[in-house]
Amino acid sequence: MNEKMYGTARLTARLEPWMEELLSNSRLCRQLIDTHGSPVNIHEYSAMGRNAQELRAAAAEHQIDLQIYYARKANKTMGAIDQAVREGCGVDVASLNELRQCLDRGVPPERIILSAAVKSKALLRAAISAGVTVSLDNSDELHSALEVNEASGQALNVALRLSIDHRSIPPTRFGLSASHWLDLLSDVTPNAGVKVAGLHFHLNGYDAHARSLGIHQALGVIEELRSMGHAPDFVDMGGGIPMSYVDSADQWEDFWYQLVRLPDGDESLTWKSDRLGAKGLAPSSAVYPYHQELVRGVWLNELLGYVPETESVSIGAALRAADIQLRCEPGRSLMDGCGLTLAEVAFTKQRSDGVPLVGLHMNRTQCRSTSADFLLDPLLVHAAGPGAERTFGSAFLVGAYCIEEELLLRRRFEFPAGVAAGDLIAFPNTAGYLMHIVESASHQLPLAANVLWNGKTWESDDIDRIRL
Ligand SMILES: *Cc1c(COP(=O)(O)O)cnc(C)c1O
Repeated sequence: MNEKMYGTARLTARLEPWMEELLSNSRLCRQLIDTHGSPVNIHEYSAMGRNAQELRAAAAEHQIDLQIYYARKANKTMGAIDQAVREGCGVDVASLNELRQCLDRGVPPERIILSAAVKSKALLRAAISAGVTVSLDNSDELHSALEVNEASGQALNVALRLSIDHRSIPPTRFGLSASHWLDLLSDVTPNAGVKVAGLHFHLNGYDAHARSLGIHQALGVIEELRSMGHAPDFVDMGGGIPMSYVDSADQWEDFWYQLVRLPDGDESLTWKSDRLGAKGLAPSSAVYPYHQELVRGVWLNELLGYVPETESVSIGAALRAADIQLRCEPGRSLMDGCGLTLAEVAFTKQRSDGVPLVGLHMNRTQCRSTSADFLLDPLLVHAAGPGAERTFGSAFLVGAYCIEEELLLRRRFEFPAGVAAGDLIAFPNTAGYLMHIVESASHQLPLAANVLWNGKTWESDDIDRIRL
């Protein structure tokens, strides 16, 4: 399947059966592009249940009560919310529109957590009046929430966002330290009615051990809160649960090995011999680790089995003993296998110095996250008409924004069977962040349409009907 297009240094994507089936049907691919425009984001959410089940099985092994909240900022479709609810998950929302759309869709308020980094009064009002737990970030936010809640005469249910204090964990802009929160709470008058429902944190990176330390600290704060008369019953460890896009560890290592040895100016692997932030042989920290050994269930199992230095029991056992529910908010790893992005080739040509280029009806914000590149080989679907004259060789993919550096991906790709205008290129496994997190409508080019498999046919996702 991947033999029509691959990176000069290959990074072969792991594909779901639905992706293989779709991409082997060039007429259907053509029809989706003709109906919805290029690019089109295509979703089939059945992998979400399997992803959630891996986490639940690990929790069950440790006899832990686990609740999964899908981090909605990873993918904006309404279909993803529906699937998360069908799979027994809640939703973690990051803005007023994300919250409203979930409530309008019928997500039960007790299955929503509000973790927005900055919260307006309108957002706090909407969450509090619906009964959604608010994760508080700082003291200004606590006071805004109290003000909003004042008229209600009811208790204010909150989670406290904890900044984890440990020499191995880098400083964070999010949350406050345990001692800071405890001081703040002792300062608010008891009749203000703050009820701490749980503790929340979210760490950068994907390290299981760091999450163990976070849970350990949160359990310490929970003991103190209980002695102050609060009744917290959960620790939410946020997202960052790892996934693996590329099955082959060898390919992943080899890619970095080749990249670091490339002479400056040699464009055989990347545009302008871009090292993508790599300094030595190790994979660059400026990109997601596309190959990982410990993912989801195995990762969670390791995390729960960890025994902190000062303790004699594992994190799993400590959660059980304290009768605390563990919550998590996976975005990327829950959406693993749920989407791909399909785009049409607009032209083939050469850069002024002869370097081959393939132009797509797509811009670089439509398959991109905050990291330096999306490191998976796309797949080529020969969908151009019968008379198409294909260009052979290797090329870079350029996009629709009028910028010299408008590369869709920074790597160079081989086209052993040729490529022509009218062919289609699929970017695999893009549902987690890659489609939506930085997409823009610059140049007045419309945002990509979103399509989902409803069990019978491909249909438009409702998010494209909503105007913000
Ligand atoms: C972004 C975010 C998540 C999701 O992170 P992933 O890496 O996609 O799992 C979860 N919780 C919070 C608070 C976040 O900001």
